[in-house]
Amino acid sequence: MVIKEFDWISNKNSQVVIYGTTVGGKIIYQCLQNVGIKVDFFCDRSNRYVEFCGRPVKEPSVLRDNKNYKVLNALTRSFDSVCQYMKQIQYKEIYSCSNLIKDKRVEDFIYDENEGELVADFLEKYPIYASNCRTGICLPSLEVFITERCTLRCRDCSHLIPRYQNAKDYNIEEITENLNKISKMVERISDLIILGGEPLLHKGLYQLLEWGYQQKCIGTLTIISNGSVMPDEKLLSVMKETKARIRLSNYGKYSIKLNEIQFECRKRGISCFINDELWTDMGRIYNHNYTKKELTEIFTDCPFSYDLLLLKGRIYRCAHVAHLNNLQIINSYSHDSIDVADIIDENINEKKQELREYMEVDYLEGCSYCNGIKNSIQGIEPAIQGAR
Ligand code: SF4
Repeated sequence: MVIKEFDWISNKNSQVVIYGTTVGGKIIYQCLQNVGIKVDFFCDRSNRYVEFCGRPVKEPSVLRDNKNYKVLNALTRSFDSVCQYMKQIQYKEIYSCSNLIKDKRVEDFIYDENEGELVADFLEKYPIYASNCRTGICLPSLEVFITERCTLRCRDCSHLIPRYQNAKDYNIEEITENLNKISKMVERISDLIILGGEPLLHKGLYQLLEWGYQQKCIGTLTIISNGSVMPDEKLLSVMKETKARIRLSNYGKYSIKLNEIQFECRKRGISCFINDELWTDMGRIYNHNYTKKELTEIFTDCPFSYDLLLLKGRIYRCAHVAHLNNLQIINSYSHDSIDVADIIDENINEKKQELREYMEVDYLEGCSYCNGIKNSIQGIEPAIQGAR
């Protein structure tokens, strides 16, 4: 299956489908409207919407029965996962929309209040995901886990934080050393996403921001917080200096500092985004004993299968699998991650190749211990406290 650039001039009368009902779908839809292309429907595997931008939303399985659709991939993190799905259902091509959004600015689009950041993110990252970085390796984002400590004990935490006994902070020097090694292997990390646990509990967070800001290959710095801890004065001023942004998960009564943080950020011109998304239930942890075919299907269908996470000197494709290994609940790290702590000048090319191959794997052994999105309950209430 090939990824082609969508040519709107020769496709005026085609049956066009947009895959993805996130903000990217909205942007691509508006671009198509501007060039006079009608959209038949949107596709999405979640059951979140029946209608999006005034068009119907259908399950991706409807594409199996009609291979004449021109399917436009409007997703970023799940771009490859959608391509894998399309290949599986024997589509010969899927379309990228990089040309449609080329030179577009945030203000060219209509979007909901609070979506400005997402639109900017999409415009910056989409072309990277879509081009697949043929010249070098570009990571649209890399999550960095800095602390096991958290203020909450969420029952359905995908990072399994409540299972960490004697939770600890991770050493910032070690983290930057590993990031340094990764930067020898990749051309760019567009968004370095700092998370935990609750990263605002880590006293060395500002050092990581200062370091990250000086690195040429790192683009934006993003902190993910549960909105329960107020950053101190020092951290706020470093966030401002380093142009870091903060994404606050809105867990209602548990996000006790959410309004205060938002107020301080607005006052100081720090980018702050409130995330109201629901969670996905990955299920109880036990070996589902999936067949290889089932594993591949689950992984291909999973929107989290490209969430690269750096944890203790290894890069994992999925945070859930990373923590299952880190907690020694399973032992699949040799298949399910790559070692970056061992990068030296002499093995850079080998390690680049290893990363490329890792990005192509079609399942993680750790997926055996997960419901998988297909079988899971999507849209569950986030941050329910207590044990499972
Ligand atoms: S374990 Fe596999 S199926 Fe579950 S969230 Fe991670 S990548 Fe997806």
